[in-house]
Amino acid sequence: MQVQGMQVVVAGAATAGAATALLLARAGATVRVLDRVPEMRAAGAGIALAANGQAVLERLQLNTLLNQATQINGARIVDANERTLLAPPEGTDLRIVTRAALQAALFEAMRSTPGIAITLGVTVEAATPDGRVIVRHSASGQREAMQADLVVGADGVHSRVREQGRFGASVRRSGIHYVRALSPAAPSEALEAWTSAGLFGMLPLQRGSYLYASCGTPELERAIEAADLDAFRMAWQRAFAPSATLLAPLQRFDELLVHEVIRVSCRQWHDGRLVLVGDAAHAMAPNLGQGGNSALVDAVVLMESLRNAKDLPEALAQYTARRRPAVQRVADTSARLGQISEWTQPAMRWLRDRVLMPLASRGDSSRMMRDVLQEDPGWLRGR
Ligand SMILES: Cc1cc2nc3c(=O)[nH]c(=O)nc-3n(C[C@H](O)[C@H](O)[C@H](O)COP(=O)(O)OP(=O)(O)OC[C@H]3O[C@@H](n4cnc5c(N)ncnc54)[C@H](O)[C@@H]3O)c2cc1C
Repeated sequence: MQVQGMQVVVAGAATAGAATALLLARAGATVRVLDRVPEMRAAGAGIALAANGQAVLERLQLNTLLNQATQINGARIVDANERTLLAPPEGTDLRIVTRAALQAALFEAMRSTPGIAITLGVTVEAATPDGRVIVRHSASGQREAMQADLVVGADGVHSRVREQGRFGASVRRSGIHYVRALSPAAPSEALEAWTSAGLFGMLPLQRGSYLYASCGTPELERAIEAADLDAFRMAWQRAFAPSATLLAPLQRFDELLVHEVIRVSCRQWHDGRLVLVGDAAHAMAPNLGQGGNSALVDAVVLMESLRNAKDLPEALAQYTARRRPAVQRVADTSARLGQISEWTQPAMRWLRDRVLMPLASRGDSSRMMRDVLQEDPGWLRGR
């Protein structure tokens, strides 16, 4: 079908929304991007771009961002004494960037792409399968209605677009909290430790590190609840001594970003003229680092489905049929990894570390990599 001349509204200007808007506009669509935030401010900690996400960013010509990233061959999973439980699969290529740098690069690219109009400070209140969108402008309180050929719900885990359509969505809270932060201290190497308090990960950035940690014990949960940085630090220092170097320079609790892991799965990713991308369609546990990468892949598959199908219903059906099972597999594996990394009882940890992990390290890692990446990076790159 013709993408040229399509009128598209994209709800959400972050990873999924920006990538989708850029691809559609470059193919000739007129795209209006809406976000409820008044300005796209530097927010978040870090993100690990896997080969699939990197390929999409190359396709979007964001090579400068990729060149600024720290390149690593994956992170070892270790126990609290830094004994290897699982080495990264051969050929793993990760680039670590700050989320602020990723957002800024995507936003700048949108600003300089003809065919994209960005409006910030507007909340999408309703979007219906016939392509009608109602928004409220935060500054004036005024409502505005608009009509589109395609409405892209890239509005994250609590998506309003998803609420309006028949997507058969299930939203499950895990009760598990993750903390993320940037630290000026450099890690000795890229590691993810599975310990008696849950997991603690450290990835190198150009300057300093990106750290993330779960809160697997009542002591850590209490520290989070009380916003007590010292208690958080002490609990992690006892469980995993190398955490101390990275946590020591932090000065305020609000340097830690705290999120509950929420899983979203939808039976359909489209309804009429509405389509979901990114966390709106498939928020997942962070343990394979594929949430944002999968959002970037969604954008390419949606674009190619539109280009190759005869009409919109066929394109959106193709998109769902290709993305849903691939993402479901990754999200299931991620959730399982998340669960076993949270085993804090000594007997369970012994079973995991001495039996399950050695078995896992003998598995077919190239098949696992293909499943995780979902699509061939060469195809995603557009070559
Ligand atoms: C602890 C943790 C670690 C992670 N690590 C990684 C990693 O290493 N690699 C990776 O690939 N992924 C990672 N992820 C997942 C990744 O952060 C998300 O999958 C990704 O950010 C989703 O992007 P998105 O654009 O779909 O949604 P979001 O980033 O949530 O963006 C949604 C946008 O929509 C806007 N919005 C929301 N509602 C409305 C509305 N009603 N009207 C208008 N605008 C609206 C918001 O302001 C926002 O800008 C991690 C997640 C967690 C929790």
